[in-house]
Amino acid sequence: MAVLLPQEFENRMRAMLGDEYEMFRAEYERPPRRGIRLNPLKCGVETLARTLPFPLVASPFSPLSYYAPADARMASYPLYHAGAFYSQEPSASSAVTLLDPQPGEKILDLCAAPGGKSTQIAALTGDRGLLWSNEVVRSRAAILASNLERMGVRNTVISSVYPDVLAERLEGYFDRVLVDAPCSGEGMFRRDPQAIAEWSPAHVQTCAVRQLAILGSAARCVREDGVLVYSTCTFSDEENEGVVRAFLRQNPEFVLEKPAVSFGRPAFGVDGVRIFPMDGGEGHFAARFRRVAPNGCAAVPYAEKLDPQTEAMARALYAAAFMDTPGRFARVRDRILLLPQTLPALSGLGILRAGVEFGEVKKNRIEPAHGSFMAAKPETCRSVIHLHHDDPRLRAFLRGEEIEADGYAGYTAVAVEGVVTGFGKASGGSLKNKYPKGLRLHG
Ligand code: SAM
Repeated sequence: MAVLLPQEFENRMRAMLGDEYEMFRAEYERPPRRGIRLNPLKCGVETLARTLPFPLVASPFSPLSYYAPADARMASYPLYHAGAFYSQEPSASSAVTLLDPQPGEKILDLCAAPGGKSTQIAALTGDRGLLWSNEVVRSRAAILASNLERMGVRNTVISSVYPDVLAERLEGYFDRVLVDAPCSGEGMFRRDPQAIAEWSPAHVQTCAVRQLAILGSAARCVREDGVLVYSTCTFSDEENEGVVRAFLRQNPEFVLEKPAVSFGRPAFGVDGVRIFPMDGGEGHFAARFRRVAPNGCAAVPYAEKLDPQTEAMARALYAAAFMDTPGRFARVRDRILLLPQTLPALSGLGILRAGVEFGEVKKNRIEPAHGSFMAAKPETCRSVIHLHHDDPRLRAFLRGEEIEADGYAGYTAVAVEGVVTGFGKASGGSLKNKYPKGLRLHG
């Protein structure tokens, strides 16, 4: 399967790689590398090893990342739908390894859809602190929201605004900020013909200019001594190193840090890491800056209160379905949300969702939402039907059908191999299916 590359791109890569160019070009005659990333919020690696039909070969780019065969059909595995893993090209996990998010921190993922890196950040922080995932394109932000829900991330805010809007309101608020920037996508060429069709020298230049502007907004959001990571999935040094240099010129309050990683290779003439196909991934670039000057924060905490009657209803429903203690609830129109532990005021920030969708108000009761179960562990659910990954009842459940539930009553989680994948309402020996219509499998 020979890939036809733009001639000017080939010229540039030949100049960049010299002797290694032939090795680089030969990679395009092979299938693209694929990978999966374990979601430790949902299960351990042994659950994946036991149930997936291929061996898990660790990738060097993140402790959570594994290679997958080129023909793996991710959506055909029930554990995919349960959020036990995320389908991610291995080298795409490198940027979050540089970001090094820590439990309890406030972290901004500024260009976040479809959510590969956001879900990786939540996995590494143990979902403790605040993950703010922003995606400017609204339709892509909806996909991001769905992926964060599937992976069971609770302490997250999903917004859809231009970066400067966040910079204005959340100046100095975040411990770490990731800019996984829109780029010319040269590292996508092997798996996305569209990236080849869109490539041109002018497009590369436009991307570099846009990246610098996004980084300027991102920089404002970083607190003193905080970290900013810039990454792309492209090889061009007009983006990547060129943007790093321009950023440092424009932002003297930041210094570049040498990446403390053992994968990939050093960037050209600046501290940063590059991954080419010969290095075991499709292609990535990442660099890490630290803010070394003060940056005051004017963000005010979220202070809205839920009316006592709705609060009481939400707490009663929570206690009926779950055994742990809920945090703060909020109401947005007819939706009840379970808010993140840490939260600034949200108005005017293009919020799609703050926290987990807990339920929907219907007349004078609340109906639980899919998200509240996706973020739950089986041991905290009052009632759970445990199914083996080969059990035909599991496919039936994921298709939206009623399944047998003898001996169960009330809101009941459905778990595959110990991982919650949805819920239903049990009565009279069967489970009324509450798996969302938009997620149901066909066939
Ligand atoms: N981080 C994502 C992940 O790992 O799944 C991939 C992000 S993708 C490389 C870059 C994202 O930036 C796209 O979703 C794109 O819609 C968004 N974007 C495009 N223009 C932008 C802009 N001017 N400011 C911020 N984000 C932008």
